[in-house]
Amino acid sequence: MRFDRMMMTALVALMAATPALAEAPPAVRTAADRAAQAIEPKMISWRRDLHQHPELGNVEVRTAKIVADHLRKLGMKVRTGVAGTGVVAVLEGGKPGPTVALRADMDALPVKEVNDLPFRSQATGTYRGQTVPVMHACGHDTHVAILMATAEILAGLKKDLPGKVVFLFQPAEEGPSDFEPGTGKTWGAKAMVEQGALADPKPDAVFGLHVFAGLESGKIAWRAGPVMASADSYRVDVIGKQTHGALPWRGVDPIPITAQIVTAMQTIVSRQLDITREPAILTVGQIQGGVRFNIIPDSVFLEGTIRAFDEGMRADIHSRLTRTAAGIAAASGAKADTKVTKIYDVTTNDPALTAAMRPTLIRVAGDKPWTDNVPKSTGSEDFSEFSRVAPSLFLFLGVTPKDQVETAAANHSPLFMVDESGLLQGVRALTHLTVDYLNGAGATGR
Ligand SMILES: [Zn+2]
Ligand SMILES: [Zn+2]
Repeated sequence: MRFDRMMMTALVALMAATPALAEAPPAVRTAADRAAQAIEPKMISWRRDLHQHPELGNVEVRTAKIVADHLRKLGMKVRTGVAGTGVVAVLEGGKPGPTVALRADMDALPVKEVNDLPFRSQATGTYRGQTVPVMHACGHDTHVAILMATAEILAGLKKDLPGKVVFLFQPAEEGPSDFEPGTGKTWGAKAMVEQGALADPKPDAVFGLHVFAGLESGKIAWRAGPVMASADSYRVDVIGKQTHGALPWRGVDPIPITAQIVTAMQTIVSRQLDITREPAILTVGQIQGGVRFNIIPDSVFLEGTIRAFDEGMRADIHSRLTRTAAGIAAASGAKADTKVTKIYDVTTNDPALTAAMRPTLIRVAGDKPWTDNVPKSTGSEDFSEFSRVAPSLFLFLGVTPKDQVETAAANHSPLFMVDESGLLQGVRALTHLTVDYLNGAGATGR
């Protein structure tokens, strides 16, 4: 075959436009997989120990010590006490290159475990002043064990790593157990960022994962763009004027006004937002007012949550809620004060990074199930705080046997169960994302 000059030029241009598939050398990938296989039993025993000894948000003292001791043994520089109990460690590869951060959350929930397991939790803790049972009902025990295993594998590949890896073990993803959100104090991922967890070295990409019940064991699932909702709480105080239940005209009754506000709120998402853009949720979770059948109370309050996948829509809901409550109250001669507390931002998978890492994830999945179009979750995550610092990708990992996918108890249930056979794929995913990224796979995502 003969190439003339023009054909040659066209070919070179085409090659330049199609980025070469960058990935770690095959020897590194094989070594990573061998190490992952070998570490699986140890990872499962770590997970069971953590499961039996869960700790609430901001008091993950035992967990943090296990993590820090492990990372130190691997020869890393370790910072403890970040945002309370957080642990940050840096692995310096043998060659220069970019920086990847990997994140696990360490906290458990005030839930009483009812699973019949030899390592069932019987722990208790203090949740905002009350003694409560504690359980790893969201699977953060698996996240810690997976990241400890990943750290050990990557430490073993240190001399072949072109770049650095930052390990982030964060407290209080589920919120602090020692104070009420809305006080102005920060916690978890946000506090970690404020305390410089991502300052030196600053990562070029952040990866994390979450196990979910109802997703087949070992399935890796992700999507580009918004993947988990923002979460806000709100409170509306409707202030009327107290009077006798038999003489309503002598006061301002806040109860029917609150009822009108609740009804009008139903049209904010359904009639006022462009829901073809993104879905949104506005829920009333609590209404309280009055003490006795024949007294019209002075005030009523209602509380609830707002979920959105777009920061503009989120802000729009806040202002429409405030306007609706104030307008309806004013029409009846009452007052409504609305306070919105932002809890977590939208978790968004950076589209360029997600596209760049897709071949890696498909290769890791192999003959196991995977999807790059997992449905969005209206749950929320403070992983979003790390996404504000660097492009990020957050994976969902299945931990439910195939025949129980439809019936499995959800995360946060006292019956939440983890099929540990799914965890190895989590270790492989984080390890391969890291080695491929450091070898240039993320170059198009930077
Ligand atoms: Zn959770
Ligand atoms: Zn969680």
